Amino acid sequence: MLSRIKRSDAKLSLSGWLRVAALAVGLGIPAVVTWTLNRQYDQSLADAETRAGNTSRALGQHAARSFETIDTFLRAFASLVGSRANTIPPQALHAALHEQFVQSHLNNIMVIDRDGRAAVEAVAFPARPLNVSDREYFQALRDQPDIGLVVGSPIIGRLTGKLLLPVARRIDNADGSFAGLVQAMLDPETFQTVYGGIDNGPGATLNLWHADGTLLVRSPRMPEVIGRNYADSVNYREHVPARDEKPFWSRGVTDRVVRVIAYSFLDGYPLYVGAALSRADVLADWRRSALMQGAVAGGLTTVLVIALLLLAREIEQRQTADAQTSASETQLRLSEERLALALNSGSDGLWDWDLATGAIQFSDHWFGMLGYGSGEIEPHIRVWEDFVHPDDDERARRLMVEHVKGLTPTYECEYRMRRKIGGYVWTLARGKVVSRDETGRAMRIVGTHMDITRRKEAERQIAFMAMHDGLTGLANRALFREKLEQSLASARRQGDSFAILACDLDRFKAVNDTLGHPAGDALLRVIADRLRAVVCDEDTVARLGGDEFAVIVRGTDDRRSVSFFAQRVIEAVGQPVDLDGHTATVSVSIGIALGTRASPEADILFKHADTALYRAKALGRNGYSFYDPSVDAEVAKRSLLERDLRDAVSRGGFVLLYQPIVAMTDERVGGFEALLRWQHPTRGAISPAEFIPLAEETGLIIALGEWAIREACHEAASWQNDLHVAVNVSAVQFQQPGLEQVVLDALVASGLSPHRLELEITESMLMQDSEAAVASLHRLKGLGVRIALDDFGTGYSSLSYLRRFPFDKIKIDRSFIRDIGDPDTAAIVRAIVGIGARLGATVTAEGVETREQLEQVRQEGCTEVQGFLYSKPIPAPEALDYARAQRPSRKAA
Ligand code: C2E
Ligand code: CA
Ligand code: CA
Repeated sequence: MLSRIKRSDAKLSLSGWLRVAALAVGLGIPAVVTWTLNRQYDQSLADAETRAGNTSRALGQHAARSFETIDTFLRAFASLVGSRANTIPPQALHAALHEQFVQSHLNNIMVIDRDGRAAVEAVAFPARPLNVSDREYFQALRDQPDIGLVVGSPIIGRLTGKLLLPVARRIDNADGSFAGLVQAMLDPETFQTVYGGIDNGPGATLNLWHADGTLLVRSPRMPEVIGRNYADSVNYREHVPARDEKPFWSRGVTDRVVRVIAYSFLDGYPLYVGAALSRADVLADWRRSALMQGAVAGGLTTVLVIALLLLAREIEQRQTADAQTSASETQLRLSEERLALALNSGSDGLWDWDLATGAIQFSDHWFGMLGYGSGEIEPHIRVWEDFVHPDDDERARRLMVEHVKGLTPTYECEYRMRRKIGGYVWTLARGKVVSRDETGRAMRIVGTHMDITRRKEAERQIAFMAMHDGLTGLANRALFREKLEQSLASARRQGDSFAILACDLDRFKAVNDTLGHPAGDALLRVIADRLRAVVCDEDTVARLGGDEFAVIVRGTDDRRSVSFFAQRVIEAVGQPVDLDGHTATVSVSIGIALGTRASPEADILFKHADTALYRAKALGRNGYSFYDPSVDAEVAKRSLLERDLRDAVSRGGFVLLYQPIVAMTDERVGGFEALLRWQHPTRGAISPAEFIPLAEETGLIIALGEWAIREACHEAASWQNDLHVAVNVSAVQFQQPGLEQVVLDALVASGLSPHRLELEITESMLMQDSEAAVASLHRLKGLGVRIALDDFGTGYSSLSYLRRFPFDKIKIDRSFIRDIGDPDTAAIVRAIVGIGARLGATVTAEGVETREQLEQVRQEGCTEVQGFLYSKPIPAPEALDYARAQRPSRKAA
């Protein structure tokens, strides 16, 4: 206990000694005070430098994160577009840009072509006329293939008239030549909002700079300097080219105010952030305390010197008398009372501690700082100790003991002190032993308490910003990761488990599109509040970006309670939200991964939640799904299959089977449908249902489909004259310009007459809305090739597609034939037959398996049937036998 630090009683000596003492006090106290003030002055400046450095670093991280987000998109977009610039319809590009745009705070996103003209933009379709070929960033990207992300100098947007920052990446053609660029226009205003929220004192500034010296953002606002270039300023020349992040004192370039400035340079982007604190602000606190301390010291010195001199005279006068001792003590008490008076004239809290007795004198301000009236607290060190925050207590004591022992020149410590009304005040305590006895023991310490709550709050705010989402105040990705690591560590150490919920809003984009950005932001804030309301204190809710949220729920691994929790989240989010009179509703899909002792590391665990989210979305939105290792297994299986498929396409691992198509009138075989089979080396025959979608996704269908057309034509050419062959053609094949040529080549090579070839296409082909594809269908039809509409009834607005192209045949999907016993289904089949008749098209019933079904479709009026009732798909030689065997028998009948 500090109160136990004692001193031995000092004895007063003769009046001569007192005079010497008076002289020592008169010179000593001012010297000590001057020394202390000098130190405090240096300390204030050093503190300001640290704070400027911290602020600029935090803002630098903030800016870097903002640019990373934009760059990630631009990079992905540039590589996506690069190889297929000519094949993606502008409408689709616009949609992709628009989708990204609505989730961002960007002003616009555009694709610029190689001549500098806007080809597509996010906010309008078609793109409005704009040419940027004269802009420097365009020329840089055009001329330097490996330049990476370019942040251009700010420009006045030609479409908006606003100051904007172009951020762009180059798009390469497949051969590496320049195809154009994708550029986002960033409105520096978004940074202004963040900077405006930081309080570093009235004279402080926060700036975002372009590396070329152009000022992009200034807080507080000063519109006339935005966009101006300061590359010729001393501040720029001496610190920016050298990327010097050390705080320095200089005049602000915009207003000539003296400040401490710290820069933070962004890695990989031509930007830097400057945080500056004004010298006047920094020294204001010090100046106040210096004035006060000066006054106190002056008063104290005078009082002490006078007291000592008076005492000396008194002793002299009464040397012969016998009441000398008591008089001097009276005098001492008197001087201490005066001292107390002097102490109370300051502004910061002052204290004066007598180590022998533990008595402490506090200034009025000291009481005021803690919300007490003067003298309301017993003036004893014991009491003071009770006021220090328990968490700070140990440190405060240790530093004090070190100083009292003479190990440190001054005592200095930041700690919290309890206020009368509750809560704590952050204080900076400084003090110094002002007298020691002849053995060196400390007798008295004098010091101050300064209220630094505001500074601590600003520091806390900056730390908070680095870890939280600016819009919702929820944890950001960085903090979420940290919490996830903590939860995992605790699971490994103590076996307590937790759950991660990856959440994604289902229809957020619609709200953003229809009600606008501010409404979208408001909605996100409401959702954030609702999420906060359903979790407990130890849980974490984070916004990971856009409309993506994540929750860590601690202390649970049992699926039932997690399901229950997920259900509560879904209900809470799904409540209607009032947005300025508009009612919006969004739903949420949730993927869940459970964290246990055995869990993999954080990244993988989160990926699990993400995989589960993906599945929840696929299962129909507004639901939740637990991570299931078999989902991963599916992915692995697929990539294996893809490898094999690629192999089979290049080496020829396929055969065609042929299924007879029978005319209803005379039950004669009119032709065959060619159906692919994959002879897998280890897995045997694989169904097209399994590999066609994969072949479509990977583009392998192009080569495979071409082989099927050639093979079918070749086969059919050997059949009796009028038997025709039907080949399935995927929508993907029609997106490629070469299909028409492939068909022509196959016909020429095989010598098959065009009218014996039938192409089966599905509605999805017409849904691509490709004029070129429809035109090529028309030309093929003109040659005599018949075009059939396959799987009719399974698509969307079938009738409108029938109007888009004059099909020769409609094939009613198997599912209708299966259910044809049901009167409603029978009515649909009847209606389709009616439409077919009106369009002059043949109507084929697919998947006829039983006699009853055959009777039914006959009654409804179908003209052709195909199905297991007659034959499964069979190899070519058998198909030929089938046709031969059946035809004569029919003829004979
Ligand atoms: P699809 O064009 O609708 O072909 C008819 C499917 O129904 C064939 O399945 C056939 O075996 C089956 N089927 C025929 N009659 C019956 C029946 O009575 N009952 C039942 N349950 N099924 C019957 P498969 O051969 O498995 O082909 C599946 C799909 O794969 C085809 O559906 C087609 O969309 C696609 N496909 C097949 N070959 C090719 C091809 O060369 N190119 C393209 N692009 N797609 C193909
Ligand atoms: Ca078909
Ligand atoms: Ca079909």
